[in-house]
Amino acid sequence: MKCPRCGSGLNRVQYEGVRIEVCPGCQGEWLHPGELQKIVEHHGKVFTPDEIASLDAVNKEIFTAEKDDRDELNCPCCQSMRMEHFNYGDTSGIILHKCPECGGVWTDKEQLGKVERVVDGWKKRLRQDSKKYGSILKKVELKERQNLDKAVSISHFGFVNAVLRRFCE
Ligand SMILES: [Zn+2]
Ligand SMILES: [Zn+2]
Repeated sequence: MKCPRCGSGLNRVQYEGVRIEVCPGCQGEWLHPGELQKIVEHHGKVFTPDEIASLDAVNKEIFTAEKDDRDELNCPCCQSMRMEHFNYGDTSGIILHKCPECGGVWTDKEQLGKVERVVDGWKKRLRQDSKKYGSILKKVELKERQNLDKAVSISHFGFVNAVLRRFCE
């Protein structure tokens, strides 16, 4: 399978039992249909519903809507099928591409960088109120330590998914 962005051959990687294709050229990542959902479900178990609600409030402060990325990309699986793009979680400024035919999801390295900035923002805000958010912050840091040896940047992506579930529902 070839990268829809730069045309390099995609490398297959396993992440938490999920198959992901990673581009060695531009570091974009392709999730096969239904795999984003699996990652969301896994990370949803890390947090209680109350904690997810708390993080949701933090997200509203951090996220700023940005101009949509208008790049037109074809699905690497269906090839001639043009992917749709959308602002993840409505206001995150994180733009994902999704194939309307097979349901696979493409994410650019640049977009994953935005996700990392969101997680950094969480840590900053959560520290300001350690009594209220202390237990959440511990989980954030634990999760990050677990991810240190992961070659796949989708690990951060999946973590953010835990509080942005509404996209998958
Ligand atoms: Zn590429
Ligand atoms: Zn497709």
